[in-house]
Amino acid sequence: MTHPLLRGKDVLDVPVLVLNRGYQPVRITSARHAFSLLYGDRAQALDRDYEPHDFEHWAARDPEEGELTIRTVRGSLEVPRLLLLRVYDRIPRTPLRLSRRNVFVRDGHQCVYCGETSDLTIDHVLPRSRGGGSSWENLVSCCRECNLEKGHRTPEEANMTLKRRPVRPNWTVVIQLTGVKDPLPDWEPFLRAAG
Ligand SMILES: [Zn+2]
Repeated sequence: MTHPLLRGKDVLDVPVLVLNRGYQPVRITSARHAFSLLYGDRAQALDRDYEPHDFEHWAARDPEEGELTIRTVRGSLEVPRLLLLRVYDRIPRTPLRLSRRNVFVRDGHQCVYCGETSDLTIDHVLPRSRGGGSSWENLVSCCRECNLEKGHRTPEEANMTLKRRPVRPNWTVVIQLTGVKDPLPDWEPFLRAAG
């Protein structure tokens, strides 16, 4: 039976959530890179009880039942799901790049004004001509029809309602973009705390 995390991936490509010294999520990385951080003593692996282990310790323990492993000369090595950095890495302001595609993902591939799902474009809530910038808070996905109707007006002036206020994407969106359908249960306490 294939492990649910694998989903056609190489075991070294499965996602690992990286936490800083303060247990705040900073990024998602691959198991390959996670092992390199662990081996280089730049991070510790967290077990199911969230106990940190350095590489020697991690390699010496028996993999937990049902966890993904890789084979090494010394035996089976468990693939960690959570990594704790030894340094207090700053939390990126947003872990996700601002792009057309990512705005569409955040907005669920829907027009924020009417809910239309086809023929989408990007709308500046405060129009560019009025000084509206390109930011997570000012870009929304919008169908061409609404975009045309709105023109160089604000939603209020055009009498259009934003179904949702645009904000920086949260970790749930980041995780979707990494191809993980659902955040791993072990990740949840950290993602919840991060908002
Ligand atoms: Zn629309």
